[in-house]
Amino acid sequence: MDKARIDELIAAAFEVRENAYAPYSEFTVGAALLGMDGRIYAGCNVENGSYGLTSCAERNAVFAAVAEGCRNFAAIALAGGRDFIVPCGACRQILSEFNVNRVILTKRDGSYKVVALKDLLPYPFSL
Ligand SMILES: [Zn+2]
Repeated sequence: MDKARIDELIAAAFEVRENAYAPYSEFTVGAALLGMDGRIYAGCNVENGSYGLTSCAERNAVFAAVAEGCRNFAAIALAGGRDFIVPCGACRQILSEFNVNRVILTKRDGSYKVVALKDLLPYPFSL
């Protein structure tokens, strides 16, 4: 995956982060998923007053892609706070279901690192 594509994915994650609905935690997150079809699918976190109903950016990006007919992905970029953020356990499992093996963690200063999903979730659940 070339640097230009990574930069594009990171920019998309920061852009969609602006739409996050996080009035309770004020912790806004954006996720941009690169489909094997070359399209970028974006998601942001959406909180709810009934906290357990909150849906993460990563999951929302995956669900948006699946709804558009894409189920194969090259990578996902996450844009969050000042430090690197990583997907929560539930999102790691969702990413595993669709073999999103490359996770790009970013910081506001533009730095990033690429980690393998298998390092974040070495023993995923599978049927
Ligand atoms: Zn999550």
